[in-house]
Amino acid sequence: MYMIDDITTNLARSKAYIQYAMSKFIEICNFIRSSLIICDVHHCIEFKIDEKICEECEASMLNEHSM
Ligand SMILES: [Zn+2]
Repeated sequence: MYMIDDITTNLARSKAYIQYAMSKFIEICNFIRSSLIICDVHHCIEFKIDEKICEECEASMLNEHSM
């Protein structure tokens, strides 16, 4: 939440912060991906998933490690 506050405050102050905000946004996206928060959502939507991590999240994690 602190990171989101940081982005919105800086964006409101100056447009020069767009690049900074984008890098922070990517950082948040990577955090969300690596923390597997989205996978909890996948399990709520798709009851048939019985694996702990669904294929989609597993694939995105493998991509991250190969980068
Ligand atoms: Zn998932």
